[in-house]
Amino acid sequence: MAHPLPVIDEQPSSLRGDGTRNWVHPADVQGRFTRRRRMAFMVLITIYVVTPWIPIHGHPAVHLDIASRRFYLLGMTFNAQDAWLAFFLLSGIGFLLIVLAALVGRVWCGYACPQTVFLEGVFRRIERGLEGPRNLRIRRNAAPMSFDKFWRKSLKHIIYGALSLAIAHVFLSYFTSIPELFAMMKNNPKEHPEAFGWVASISVVLYLNFAFFREQLCLVVCPYGRLQSVLADKQSLVIGYDAKRGEPRGKVSDKHAGDCVSCNRCVVVCPTGIDIRNGLQLDCIGCANCVDACDEVMDKIKRPRGLVRYDSQQGLDGQPWRFLRPRLFAYVGLGVVGLGVASFAIQSRDSFEANALRLGAMPFVATEVHVRNQVELHVVNKSNETVSFRITSDMPAEYNIVISQQEVTLRALESAHIPVFATRPIGKHSPKGEELRLIVEHTGTGQRQETQIPFLSPKSK
Ligand code: SF4
Ligand code: SF4
Repeated sequence: MAHPLPVIDEQPSSLRGDGTRNWVHPADVQGRFTRRRRMAFMVLITIYVVTPWIPIHGHPAVHLDIASRRFYLLGMTFNAQDAWLAFFLLSGIGFLLIVLAALVGRVWCGYACPQTVFLEGVFRRIERGLEGPRNLRIRRNAAPMSFDKFWRKSLKHIIYGALSLAIAHVFLSYFTSIPELFAMMKNNPKEHPEAFGWVASISVVLYLNFAFFREQLCLVVCPYGRLQSVLADKQSLVIGYDAKRGEPRGKVSDKHAGDCVSCNRCVVVCPTGIDIRNGLQLDCIGCANCVDACDEVMDKIKRPRGLVRYDSQQGLDGQPWRFLRPRLFAYVGLGVVGLGVASFAIQSRDSFEANALRLGAMPFVATEVHVRNQVELHVVNKSNETVSFRITSDMPAEYNIVISQQEVTLRALESAHIPVFATRPIGKHSPKGEELRLIVEHTGTGQRQETQIPFLSPKSK
């Protein structure tokens, strides 16, 4: 069994000893991993924005309609009674994220987490465009206020505010339809105070996060990052420094020195402000900036790339990498079970539900000649299209069944309560007990469901 990877858990790199913030100003970096990340950011932002606009079977591809308690996912429709499926779905996804961490460390954090996608893919790029590269930003921040500093900072924060508002609206579009969203944007906020309150609060939180809090979210709030030392082991692919090759550090001309020339490029490009040469740290989000930065340096001094690279701890220690290991099988097995159960349950879900319910106040009425039960048939259309249902009963001839609506048409996820009266003469009861049976049939597919409820009567009658 592989042992968890020892991870250095020091005081966060972006906090000083006295608890004050050590602001991180990452330098620009170019390289193959930076290009791949930018591509991933563009694809993901497009997916986030476009998904609510894609209609599948008349509903957005992903839409959580809280008011009607319905969830539309890629053409499937779920209602509140399907909430149990979410447990298996979420646990399956959770275990797959754990598999990802055990295999390739924090690739999710570096490439796909929305915090990274928007911070690195949008907000920091605007900052670089308006305030210049790292050294200029640091100099300008330290300088007294001037017209140049004022307009650059003001414009940056105005754009940040506008973008935060836009992202909050994109977020809201997952909970309301696009036409509703546009209608709300045009109308007075007093007409939809809840939606307005949500958008305003989310915009403020996003603005504060992307303008000020930034890497602190990953370092002190996110639980996934804190779990890394347990999820990763010595075989997980992480970003590490090859100390065997790099040490002792020295000048290029020094024949006894290793390959690290102490240029500090890997440190200044790091968005969490750490020095990867100190070993794997919890603050490392796996962005690979330091890999690109060091490769650039190695190219310049004509030494092989990969002094800082993707490798396992085992590989960095000069030992062979063992890809397949017991914990991986366990994580994959649990993930497959979760997703397997969820997808099987989703596939085998009935497209409608029928239940006979007793009205509480009067279970039955008995006269000298007959006994009557009144029940209510609850029919739910669980599909995402309008469907008609035929309601019948196959009770013996002595029962007189009156169904108040023998055919009912329901829109997607709509339900109906249909009163049913069942009467039989006195003395015709079965000593084994009686069941009132009702049959609901989907008129389109012919699919039938039978629902039963005890027929109640006084024992002697
Ligand atoms: S970028 Fe490479 S050479 Fe420069 S300090 Fe970092 S590890 Fe050493
Ligand atoms: S150490 Fe390297 S991979 Fe880790 S966060 Fe810093 S720059 Fe990114």
